[in-house]
Amino acid sequence: MLIGRKRGNQVNPTGRGSDGPLVELRGVRKTYGEAVAVDAVNLAIDRGEFVVLLGPSGSGKTTILAMLGGFITPSAGRIFIEGQDVTTLPASRRPTVTVFQDYALFPHMTVEANVGFGLEMRKVRKPERQGRVDEALRMVGLEGFGKRSIHQLSGGQRQRVALARAIAVKPTVLLLDEPLGALDLGLRRQMQEELVGLQKKLGVTSVHVTHDQEEAMHIADRIVVLNRGRIEDLGSPDRVYLAPTTLFTATFMGESNILAATVSGRRDGLLHLRTPFAEVRMEGRAPDGTTTVHLSVRPEHIRLGPVAGAISFGRVTIRETVFQGAHRRCHAVSMQEGETDLLIRVPAEHPVRSGDRPEVFVRREDLVLLAD
Ligand code: ADP
Ligand code: MG
Repeated sequence: MLIGRKRGNQVNPTGRGSDGPLVELRGVRKTYGEAVAVDAVNLAIDRGEFVVLLGPSGSGKTTILAMLGGFITPSAGRIFIEGQDVTTLPASRRPTVTVFQDYALFPHMTVEANVGFGLEMRKVRKPERQGRVDEALRMVGLEGFGKRSIHQLSGGQRQRVALARAIAVKPTVLLLDEPLGALDLGLRRQMQEELVGLQKKLGVTSVHVTHDQEEAMHIADRIVVLNRGRIEDLGSPDRVYLAPTTLFTATFMGESNILAATVSGRRDGLLHLRTPFAEVRMEGRAPDGTTTVHLSVRPEHIRLGPVAGAISFGRVTIRETVFQGAHRRCHAVSMQEGETDLLIRVPAEHPVRSGDRPEVFVRREDLVLLAD
């Protein structure tokens, strides 16, 4: 199955201007002995897209990126770039360039020499090289830094040099493996914005790896959620956050309340579910014979006090509230059927306090039925 978009007519053997996706992985798999690092990954990426591979450590992100970049050969499956089968093509002959987490800069060389390195490897002549180095440095905000040596630069500046070296080559596909991972939080957020700006300005198709879901939401056109070498979910940041398809995505992408529900009936295309808080009828399907399903609801979607048309989840006891700047995060328990925990997020100005016993409400559209 091809995830993400329909396949274009057919692979264009000339590799020029095909109307299919720019990058395509078909049934890509990588094993190490018995261990499966990447399993049956199908992914199509359009020209100009900024795709983020998001997943916990060990989920196969780096392995997928390295297969795209030509540093690892898949055990099975094929990889196409611009319609050309590049599955066994070495890195140096691909239209890709990779920015590594540790930047892999040459510490004894100047900024200029580092940025020009990829161009030299690609046999770009010196006069043109200088122009492209200067342009790349300008793009990343390091104009005039060419003669400095790497060890005179801060972490953020080194990161920019690595980025300049990559874009100087004008790759068709830019591959980024946790490029902001070594930066402190403030700088990381700033660099995220710069990276998005740069990517849009250049229009370069990019695949970016991170385990940071906030970073993914910040920069991605599309997020690919990975778990144990497989694609769990794939879509725009809003879709993946607001309507995660699986239990894994719901718990990995920010905080969620996961409710176990019993299927008590199926009528008129509606599932009748019994949760620890309320009976719920909602659209959706569960495979025949399934008796329990999971629902997720975001903490900010649990409302204190009556909301027209919403489902009452009954009274809860607020056990603890923590002020978090823009909002207040509350830990509550329901006493309805045994003790059930609920995480609630309200605007910071909300006067809720521990010990309060508000009735809480959830709108039907904020309940998400998950595939396990
Ligand atoms: P991520 O980048 O998401 O942290 P990786 O792609 O690096 O994950 O690794 C995916 C899985 O493959 C992990 O379980 C890892 O231990 C395994 N793996 C990666 N490289 C090798 C290797 N060279 N030999 C054996 N196992 C590997
Ligand atoms: Mg990795």
